[in-house]
Amino acid sequence: MKHSLAILSFLFLIIFMFPATAQETAKANKGEGVLQFLKRFNRTKSFHFDRFIELNRDKLDKNNGLKLGVTYSLPPLNNEGNEPLFGEKLAKYTIDSDELNGACFYLVSGHGGPDPGAIGELRGHPLHEDEYAYDIMLRLARNLMSKGAKVHIIIQDAKDGIRNDKYLDVSDRETCMGQAIPLNQVKRLQQRCDKINELFKKDKEHYRRALFIHLDSRSESKQIDVFFYHYDGSAKGKHLANTLQNVFNRKYDKHQPLRGFSGTVSPRDLFVIKQSLPVAVFVELGNIQNSRDQQRFLLDDNRQALANWMCEGLIEDYKNYKNK
Ligand SMILES: [Zn+2]
Repeated sequence: MKHSLAILSFLFLIIFMFPATAQETAKANKGEGVLQFLKRFNRTKSFHFDRFIELNRDKLDKNNGLKLGVTYSLPPLNNEGNEPLFGEKLAKYTIDSDELNGACFYLVSGHGGPDPGAIGELRGHPLHEDEYAYDIMLRLARNLMSKGAKVHIIIQDAKDGIRNDKYLDVSDRETCMGQAIPLNQVKRLQQRCDKINELFKKDKEHYRRALFIHLDSRSESKQIDVFFYHYDGSAKGKHLANTLQNVFNRKYDKHQPLRGFSGTVSPRDLFVIKQSLPVAVFVELGNIQNSRDQQRFLLDDNRQALANWMCEGLIEDYKNYKNK
């Protein structure tokens, strides 16, 4: 009895000392550099290198060289991330490329909390702009993060996650990163800009972009359009808006040649793009009150496509920035 108790406590000890996801460790061979060392353990991607430096910063010499006899932590083979806001099923994601390493995004879905934004209606179902914008924004965030970007999700709903429903349930749970959203428009917009600017000042990335996503439009045009707005004095904002528009034009030509899509880019004196410190683009993906536009948001595949296209545009813009 005594004996089995001893074994049991020994087992407990082992379990606590070596959790299931124990980090692999190894020592360097003589004369080995970090890249060689990582290659020996099949870690050949640049995120492996970045993660290794992060994990072992204190154990490297001042030129990021390895020291003999020191035990180093190996970065995980597959880089996995976890964002509970994506919902239970999609919280875990794989970082499958490093295209957006070094890029930082501030994603804001329009309205939220006490303000539903524009309200459409279909077959007795209310369609709230803030819910659809939020779903598309989350999908975009997940895309960007799986390509190695740092993403700040500014408007958050602790419960919703990414949803596949056609009719998205409405709620006023959304917060500005945990803070209640005020109903007053100026206070509401100032709050999200303050949050972005506070983060912006701490973020070290050289490439930082804010994206405001809406599904309404003040245009009288009957055309099925997407509007990209940038701040008048911002060449970088204009570049990003143009890049996004080009991707959308390309995609629409390919997938919906008959719909006569035309995205437009223009400067606009909008509070949020003026007040936020990072380069910003404000996008209206259509009008949720317009019955033809509604199809663009109702199907989850379409919401995913919109997120994919914006992601593609952001990648293109970042590549262009890096090649300068
Ligand atoms: Zn809006």
